[in-house]
Amino acid sequence: MSKYRTIKGLALVASLAFSPAAFAETFVTVGTGGQTGVYFVVGQSICKLVNRGQSKHNIKCTAPSTGGSVANLNAIKAGDMDMGVAQSDWQYHAYNGTSKFEEQGANKDLRAVFSVHPEPFTVVARSDSGVATFDDLKGKRVNIGNPGSGQRGTMEVLMNAKGWSNGDFALASELKSAEQSQALCDNKVDAIVFTVGHPNGSIKEATTSCDAKVIPVTGAEVDKLIGDNAYYAAATIPGGMYNGTDADTQTFGVGATFVSSNKVDEETIYQIVKAVFDNFDRFKGLHPAFANLKPENMITNNLSAPLHDGAARYYKEKGWM
Ligand code: GLU
Repeated sequence: MSKYRTIKGLALVASLAFSPAAFAETFVTVGTGGQTGVYFVVGQSICKLVNRGQSKHNIKCTAPSTGGSVANLNAIKAGDMDMGVAQSDWQYHAYNGTSKFEEQGANKDLRAVFSVHPEPFTVVARSDSGVATFDDLKGKRVNIGNPGSGQRGTMEVLMNAKGWSNGDFALASELKSAEQSQALCDNKVDAIVFTVGHPNGSIKEATTSCDAKVIPVTGAEVDKLIGDNAYYAAATIPGGMYNGTDADTQTFGVGATFVSSNKVDEETIYQIVKAVFDNFDRFKGLHPAFANLKPENMITNNLSAPLHDGAARYYKEKGWM
């Protein structure tokens, strides 16, 4: 009898040792953006779908608000976050160690997981400011975005292309995306910039709380940026989406992408990707900016870092690659 017990005990010990997943929870974090943007919803939506399957994989996902793309890429590099949402231009530069990332060098551990919605570079100006084109921003009070946000970086790229510096504005403020619509409507600034998917709550807030318009961003410098860089494309913000802007607005834009690191294990990313694509209709329904998403585009467009092994495993299983 004692022998039987010992064997049974050993078997139990062995099964515990070989199935750590049954006991250990894996906590993962997703870097997003401001609370009134779309990145926050991307992260919250991914985590919602992941956490629904927690009894199967024991992964617990959280998606706090952050400073945006560049902050997320830095946090992933430092190992402070496992995943994050980032603009395609900043994904490219982080992986290649160019532009803003030149000083710190290339992050060759960065991995693409999938791309999400398009993000037009969006300028909104108070109607009483007299701003009708991007060039009219010279001499005005402009919120150029918080350091760490994608829009701040992309605004700086455009300012460089035009030969402008902060001194060309009467005020260059650095408010976060969640604060800027109120600053616009409180007449603390004349215009705000946001690289963001449409429609979104932030631009709705700016255009319903006061008289404000979406401003076109076009011209030779913009055409050159699009022509020289694969991560930029011409973009249109549809008319009628926001109060005060009935016609389509031309601008340029990037794509939102979901990224991680090769330091995050294959199984974890596989389970996260599976949670999203096994429940894709539900995911798409979580924000109107996701309405036109298609898996075949999401696994190819706008990804300059290599695909994470866990993502590639799921896409191969599906026959998508
Ligand atoms: N594109 C912005 C950024 O990178 C964030 C947009 C959003 O919050 O949806 O910082």
